[in-house]
Amino acid sequence: MDFLNQRYIPMSRRRRIYEGKAKVLYEGPEPGTLIQHFKDDATAFNAKKHDVIDGKGVLNNRISEYIFSRLNDIGVPTHFIRRLNMREQLIREVEIIPLEIVVRNVAAGSISTRLGIEEGTPLPRSIIEFYYKNDALNDPMVSEEHITAFGWATTQEIDDIIALAIRVNDFLSGLFLGAGIRLVDFKMECGRLWENDMMRIVVADEISPDSCRLWDMKSNDKMDKDRFRRDMGGLVEAYSEVARRLGILMENDPTQGKGPVLVK
Ligand code: 5GP
Repeated sequence: MDFLNQRYIPMSRRRRIYEGKAKVLYEGPEPGTLIQHFKDDATAFNAKKHDVIDGKGVLNNRISEYIFSRLNDIGVPTHFIRRLNMREQLIREVEIIPLEIVVRNVAAGSISTRLGIEEGTPLPRSIIEFYYKNDALNDPMVSEEHITAFGWATTQEIDDIIALAIRVNDFLSGLFLGAGIRLVDFKMECGRLWENDMMRIVVADEISPDSCRLWDMKSNDKMDKDRFRRDMGGLVEAYSEVARRLGILMENDPTQGKGPVLVK
């Protein structure tokens, strides 16, 4: 299958597979593919807080494309094939594992609240946590015992997920460090990709300022969705700055990235 071949599918003829809070999944042009569409909707606290922020979807599509392409380049398997347009990307259809995998390098958000650790405290080592993806239950934190007992993933799959999470964390920490940004924490999702009778775990969903905590190295300014969660404003400006520093938003040719821009 030649995934690099452009095949335009009019919006009206597409079958919608799934609509989430910030994204829509449509049937793709080839079997085993989907189109992931990034909306401008911002939600927090399990959709209790909702807003539409012009341009957020476009920025997340570009930033997530950049990160997933670089992960593919270094041999971290992902669902990403290629970006189609400003808001959409072609992805491989995977069986999503119902877990949010959170990796933390610095205390912030729920770990600070839960364990009383001041935000900004570096953690003794990176910590990986699992949350069960279930809106009705507010995505509760779960242990490996819960995951295997309830059949959400096997022990081997958990090992694969942890190995992927560590590689993604190391890669992203370095990528953002080069752009003058501290990767405080992030959330990722994984899926099972079937190729004939073979199955492997790949990184799925998105990785963007919606799913990471990103702090400016010098000022500690927040450059992520906490700006929305905490009513700070300036979300699109912050996401644009992340894209600019990663070398994604170029002045003259917005479609060409040139890699991270060193922040002096
Ligand atoms: P916390 O557990 O501190 O609220 O979040 C930890 C990290 O995971 C943060 O970077 C946060 O953005 C991300 N995260 C946790 N849950 C979700 C979620 O449901 N959606 C998104 N987009 N990110 C999440």
